Amino acid sequence: MAVLPGDGIGPEVIAEARTTLELAAELGGFAVELESFEQAGGEYLVRTGTPMATELPGRLREFDAILAGPFGDPRVDDAVVLWGTILELRQRFDQYVNLRPARSLPGVPCRLRGVDEFDVVVVRENTEGEYAGAGGRVHRAGENEVAIEASVFTRAGIERVIRYAFDYASTHGRRRVTSATKSNALRHAMPFWDEVFGAVAGEYPQIESDSVLVDALAARVVSDPGSLEVIVASNLFGDVLSDLTAAASGSLGIAPSANLDPSRAHPSLFQAVHGSAPDIAGRGVANPVAEILAVALMLEFLGQADSAAAIVDAVGQGTAAPATRTPDLGGQATTLEAGEAIRSAMVASCAPRRRRARAGS
Ligand code: NAD
Repeated sequence: MAVLPGDGIGPEVIAEARTTLELAAELGGFAVELESFEQAGGEYLVRTGTPMATELPGRLREFDAILAGPFGDPRVDDAVVLWGTILELRQRFDQYVNLRPARSLPGVPCRLRGVDEFDVVVVRENTEGEYAGAGGRVHRAGENEVAIEASVFTRAGIERVIRYAFDYASTHGRRRVTSATKSNALRHAMPFWDEVFGAVAGEYPQIESDSVLVDALAARVVSDPGSLEVIVASNLFGDVLSDLTAAASGSLGIAPSANLDPSRAHPSLFQAVHGSAPDIAGRGVANPVAEILAVALMLEFLGQADSAAAIVDAVGQGTAAPATRTPDLGGQATTLEAGEAIRSAMVASCAPRRRRARAGS
């Protein structure tokens, strides 16, 4: 696996994610080789004038998966870093699914009053739509300056992400897929999206489906999250909705994401949803949970579902105890202490299983 530590708190949370991954491999009895690359991000842009080394994507292509920290540095333009790193890799590696599960954790109450358990997965289209990068600016700096940002929706692009959402629901015990639309105002792309959604939904009679205007859907995330299980959305709608679901579930600091090429022709990339948090970087207080849960998403994608579930369970034990919560969750634990608590819980829950296995052999 390739590791990109990223900027700000990236190296701090990545260190915990790495150690947790190595422990999961040891306990699960599988091998993992990690190679770290620092040639991408805001810091790299400051040093070299370019956000990502030209040869880096070629190197990354050789790996099964990429574990990445957040990218962004206040000394440089966010757009240059974003387009030069993460958006570049998503398009180049055809990572057309952005998977963002948002689930409340023990000890991290859901932010919505009266909601005990929040559990909504957003499947966001990740390579085209509103973030295709098509368009331009003319009459620069003149009074008649014009900016055109063209959305690009292709039948193949819409169909594959919607199909992924239904497949995900089918294999994860979910009964409903909800599509985010805006076909009352966007007169071309969204009716097209709705047509494809209807056709794909027809192939999954066992899964309920509904199509909801994105503004009403945002309200429903807050007012009736129990009616939502899997949301499938275009790039822009999914970006906004998944930050809303992450924040509603308890904290941005606990939300993981996966940028997937489900065809497995290219490596997929796993990352926390949060950014580089320059305000707390270098202080050892960043919450490592989101990056550690990104490791769980990676292991599940790579076929190590038991190890992934063991990490998720251990994270819950870590957040349940006030002494091992980081300051963003109201505790005083350091990044290292929070990571160590998760790893201790993994070891503790593995020991009885190992004893039972030894007794049975
Ligand atoms: P941010 O997520 O970095 O920070 C928002 C707030 O949440 C801050 O107060 C921060 O301290 C806190 N926070 C975030 N992660 C935390 C964690 N793990 N533990 C404890 N507190 C945490 O968002 P921002 O300030 O808007 O962005 C900072 C930089 O990150 C920008 O350069 C932005 O472009 C970049 N960014 C990168 C990614 C990515 O690479 N995937 C995602 C979002 C933002």
